[in-house]
Amino acid sequence: MNADALKKAIRDVADFPKPGILFKDITPVLADPKLFRAAVDLLADRHLKSRIDKVAMIEARGFTFGAGVALKLGAGIALIRKPGKLPGRTISASYDLEYGSATLHTHTDAVLPGERVLLVDDLLATGGTAAATAGLIEQLGGQIIEIEFLIELAFLHGREKLKKYPVFAPIVF
Ligand code: AMP
Repeated sequence: MNADALKKAIRDVADFPKPGILFKDITPVLADPKLFRAAVDLLADRHLKSRIDKVAMIEARGFTFGAGVALKLGAGIALIRKPGKLPGRTISASYDLEYGSATLHTHTDAVLPGERVLLVDDLLATGGTAAATAGLIEQLGGQIIEIEFLIELAFLHGREKLKKYPVFAPIVF
């Protein structure tokens, strides 16, 4: 299945979660096992031949695709979560969003020094979330092999915040 079939399944929801935001809803992709598999394959297969130690994934939609990618690559999972969710010692980063601002945490042992890390989220908007997360991984000594999104909103130029890293997004709006 190609990225076009996936693109067609993504649902636009106007004015969510705030007026003026056109939300890209990926739940129809998750609801269809063929589409979900195609999405995971697109993100995972390009890394089948390189060693990935950890897939870092961002709460909450990043967990869905990220877990599939980690399973397929035989990699461990590093969770990047909102405040108050992780029980152990954490490090955190705050950043601006397309709508509002946010803080993300990860456990201090989520990534070990020298580990090769793939970062996965559902969508690249302004790039703030991924840039902050990449910073956390690097703070722990991880090496970012690539940052992957199912969807990129190119008109928000999020790649500019991620210039230091390889970025892959098969579906572009
Ligand atoms: P950003 O930090 O601006 O790149 O925002 C990316 C994060 O916000 C991702 O975790 C997305 O899930 C979410 N997000 C931002 N804008 C949208 C949008 N228009 N539709 C769906 N999710 C979005």
